[in-house]
Parts: sequence; structure tokens; C-alpha cells
Amino acid sequence: MVQLSLFFIDVLMYFVFAGAAYLIFYVILKKALSHRIIQKKFEKNDRIFDEIKFSISTIIIFTLNFAIVWELQKRGYTRHYDLDFSHFTWQNAGYLVLSAFIMMLMHDTYFYWAHRLMHHPTLYRHVHQVHHRSTNPSPWAAFYFHPLEAFAEFGIIYVIVFTLPYNEIGILLFYAYQMFINVMGHLSIELFPTSYSKNGVLKIHNSITHHNMHHKYFNYNYGLYLNVWDGIMGTVHPKYYETFEEVTSRPPLDKEPIAFKAESGID
Ligand SMILES: [Zn+2]
Ligand SMILES: [Zn+2]
Repeated sequence: MVQLSLFFIDVLMYFVFAGAAYLIFYVILKKALSHRIIQKKFEKNDRIFDEIKFSISTIIIFTLNFAIVWELQKRGYTRHYDLDFSHFTWQNAGYLVLSAFIMMLMHDTYFYWAHRLMHHPTLYRHVHQVHHRSTNPSPWAAFYFHPLEAFAEFGIIYVIVFTLPYNEIGILLFYAYQMFINVMGHLSIELFPTSYSKNGVLKIHNSITHHNMHHKYFNYNYGLYLNVWDGIMGTVHPKYYETFEEVTSRPPLDKEPIAFKAESGID
């Protein structure tokens, strides 16, 4: 029963986030934002079905693991703490937000190194290549992982629950943010303004172009939320900022939008 509710929450979040992004940016605002399509074309539709199929398989794997975490928590093996909502304080609220922020930082490091590992030729060939079938992904690719990669991706939740004092609301905040970033990272339409990459603080956070270039060029831009590890390890694509500026300074197109091509979007 718990597994079923966890599965429905997760599926619902995926379809709400990815579905909303698809509806807003690929349907309603498609014409208005056609000049911001990073690679100037989209993937063909059967690739999108593949993205959804593997994302649902990932959600099933996440659900099974969330059920395991739930059992471990019930038996007192994790660092879970209870919240008394009849005496809820600003400190409680503050720590929920702070813990979600710490989880994001932990995940950023975990994701960068797990992702680098996934690009090892053997793991890439047998596992991570599934995610790279889309060289120009859609928002539906948020959880486009081979089942083994889905297990590895979930590993961060185990790291968190065994090391950081947490309440499930903190986990939910963190999980919703990572879902949002995963969906936006695969949008393939840049929404940020040109000034974003010129602001010393904001530029630390990845733009949509950042992950789109990972799908196009494979061996650069591994980070999920932040550009810090890519900066330290020298894996920021040499033309990342140049590409970001080129995409964000294109004038809006007056003519018909670039068609949602039924041909291959592979460059
Ligand atoms: Zn991706
Ligand atoms: Zn990759």
C-alpha cells in the first residue's frame, strides 16, 4: 500500500513537471520561443516515447527503494526526525529548507562523480548510453535512465538518510527541486537571459544550455545543479559561455517556428 502511494506520488510529479514543461514550452510558447531552441530542432517523437518509457521504469525502481527507506526509517536505522505540527516553529521551517539545500549540495557532488563514472567506456556502453540516445532531449527525458543507472541515481537518498537529520518534508522539497532541474535541464530551449552568465553568483548554477551541450558533446558539462565540479575538474565545455550567449542573444523569429521535426534531430 505504501509502495503504491509512493509510486503514484512519483509518477504524478513526473507527469506534472514534465507534462507542464512540454505543454507550456513545446506547445503554447513554441512559436514565441522558437529562436531559443538551442540546437534549432527537436528530437523525433519516437525518441520521446522512449524517454517516457525509461522514465517510468526509473520511477518504479525509485519507488521500490523509497519503500526500503521507509522500512529502515520505521525500524530506526535512519536519521529521521519527527515534526510536531501542533508546535511547528520558524526554526522547524528554517531547518526543512536548510536540509533540502544541503541535500542538493550533497547530490550535486554525488551526481557529478557518479556521472563521470557512468562515462567510463564499459559502463557507458552497457548502461549510460540509454540516457544519451537523445542528443537533443525533451523534458520527458528527466528520468531517462537504464535500470542499473536508476539504482545508482537513487543511491544519494541512502547517503542522505544515513548521514543527515531529515524529515520527509525536507526530502520532498529536495526531490521536487531535483525533478524540476532534471526537467528543465532537458528542455532544450534556453529560458535564462544573457546577463545570467555574466553574474558571478548566478553563473555557478547551470543553465539549460549547460546540460543540452552534455547531450550534444557527451564529454563535457557533467554537473546537475552547479558548475562548480565541472569548473574544478576542467570539464566545462570550452564553448559553453559562448554558446549560451549566442543562444540568448538571438532575435525573436517573426516567421513560422522551427517545425517539430519528424526527422532525426541528431547532429
Ligand atoms: Zn541528460
Ligand atoms: Zn552523460
